[in-house]
Amino acid sequence: MSDHENAGYDEWLDAIAGGDGYFLECGNGHGSLPPRRICPECGATDLETTPLPEAGTVETYTVVHVAAPSFADDVPYTTAVAKFGPVRLTGVADDDVEVGTDVSVKIGESETTGDRLLRFERR
Ligand SMILES: [Zn+2]
Repeated sequence: MSDHENAGYDEWLDAIAGGDGYFLECGNGHGSLPPRRICPECGATDLETTPLPEAGTVETYTVVHVAAPSFADDVPYTTAVAKFGPVRLTGVADDDVEVGTDVSVKIGESETTGDRLLRFERR
């Protein structure tokens, strides 16, 4: 699979939205996300497109009560970091997530700006 080779972050969000999420994997099994061209851990430049696991696990989360102006209408909201295979994604999560919660990733949007963002849903 090399059709995602030149993809940027927007194209990556499109892939997630279409249920076709993926990450970039180097020969050492490190994961990273577009638009990277080089493995951030070992510097490898030969990155393969690998399907993103359907399930992730919440590693940390934070409830945001005071947001930057671009998120003013969204507060309070919960941001979480979830591990999907070798990659960590940061997104907005349901209020009741805990460390260890299994989630899937969808595309949501900011209530303030309408910008697309990653959204974690309980599985
Ligand atoms: Zn690597």
